[in-house]
Amino acid sequence: MKRYFVFIAFCSALIAMAGADPAGTTGGGSRGSATMNHDIRPGDGVTASGWLSDYLPALAGSPGDTRVFYLDSGKPGATVFVAGGTHTNEIAGIATAVLLVERAKIENGRLIVVPYANNSASTYTEGEWRSDPWFAIVTPHGTRWFKSGARLTYPGHQGAPDPEVYRHVNSSEELPGYESRNLDRAHPGDPNGTLTQKVAYALLSLIKNENVDVAIDLHEADVGGRLAWMMVANPKNIDTAASAILGLEMKGIAMKLEPSSESFRGLSHREWGDASKAQSYLIETPNPAMVKDPRGVDWVNDPENPLWKRVGTQVECIVEILASFNENAPVDNMIAISGLPSLEDIELQGLGAFYN
Ligand SMILES: [Zn+2]
Repeated sequence: MKRYFVFIAFCSALIAMAGADPAGTTGGGSRGSATMNHDIRPGDGVTASGWLSDYLPALAGSPGDTRVFYLDSGKPGATVFVAGGTHTNEIAGIATAVLLVERAKIENGRLIVVPYANNSASTYTEGEWRSDPWFAIVTPHGTRWFKSGARLTYPGHQGAPDPEVYRHVNSSEELPGYESRNLDRAHPGDPNGTLTQKVAYALLSLIKNENVDVAIDLHEADVGGRLAWMMVANPKNIDTAASAILGLEMKGIAMKLEPSSESFRGLSHREWGDASKAQSYLIETPNPAMVKDPRGVDWVNDPENPLWKRVGTQVECIVEILASFNENAPVDNMIAISGLPSLEDIELQGLGAFYN
């Protein structure tokens, strides 16, 4: 009986995949030559995959389209959304999102992951923070190569030249014109705007259409800067964030906490939380390559801030945010995830042990 049930579940998963993913599940294809084909190897927890353009068809075949992975327990519970690669030079966010796709098992509720939120940024490396075009994670079965890139949308993909100055519609603050290509200044986006605004709009549409309860955006900051080792939370869920910070402290992981600014607009934690029912969070670990001249810096094996420590910390932050969320959630709207390594597991076994 049990085996029969599993078979039916498997068939439904296949049907779901066929509907959501015309290009194949395991990164076999892309919707256009401009869409990057990243080496992401979904684990057993992934029940379907699709594209960001499923939420805004105008993105289909464009460099802004990107893969969306669904991990559905099939049981009642909360829906959690995690984005990596908003800034594709911030490689811990990408590596953490990929780890979720490859390792996470959902016991209750649903997890949705977009490892390359700004795919266009991953196609080049020029920019404010220069980076390598790839980063490597050594696994027991070979070296995995992941695309890294710039902080901003590629200028040629934007569909409009940079303005003289960029001012978010809800902000009085003026930023340099190139910041119009910064996905984390473009939320909540515009379906008829630039590529960056379209991507932002599609991400918020995903959050709304999928009824997301918790949304987490993974980032990195300059070493020693204010944002390094920081969790930023929308004011409406600052108490849950504070409780997550305490949970992290109990594990010996020190993170700072800050609420979203009222005046500085366009950031994911501010706009996602304001425009949807989702609690929203942003996590920042220190990236050793975020310096004016990163030549000679090893952003994977840096002795002070190695990638394993940054990814392990981001995973622990997600785990603690969800534990805090569950404390205040009704029993039928909790999220339960297994299969994720602790920071200590990653330190002992090596980061590569947790990729397929
Ligand atoms: Zn960032």
